[in-house]
Amino acid sequence: MASRRCPICGRQFVPRPQVQHQKICSWPACQRERKRCWQQAKRQTDPTYKAGQKGHAKSWAEQNPNYSRNYRAKNPDYVERNRAQQKIRNAKRRDTPIAKMDVSRPESLVPSGIYRLTPVDASKIAKMDVWIVEINLISCGSDQPGNKTD
Ligand SMILES: [Zn+2]
Repeated sequence: MASRRCPICGRQFVPRPQVQHQKICSWPACQRERKRCWQQAKRQTDPTYKAGQKGHAKSWAEQNPNYSRNYRAKNPDYVERNRAQQKIRNAKRRDTPIAKMDVSRPESLVPSGIYRLTPVDASKIAKMDVWIVEINLISCGSDQPGNKTD
């Protein structure tokens, strides 16, 4: 039988004759990922399945109330790695442009003052004019159009 490339791990594999149209290799990590993707799609398309999964997770959590706390206590490496990854996720979220950022976070605006303005590619050009400009914050109150009032 001709070999195929697993889209998850990228390795070549020979499909098992018992599995018709096998697309994912038999490596346990790839099979877990295949199942995770299948469950994710199933939850999005099948409300009954989603409710069942939610109920199952809830009852399991009730039967194992301190599971997460105990797991973190036993696995300090996991805690450290998760903390580092969370910092990265937080930084990414902060860097994501938000449509109304200037409205919802007025403190992020350029403060009033006198600025030296130079074109970005000033290093490429031998002689470049520099502008001295004054920027004044005229309004950052709740009277701006499109401002969220809550
Ligand atoms: Zn694979």
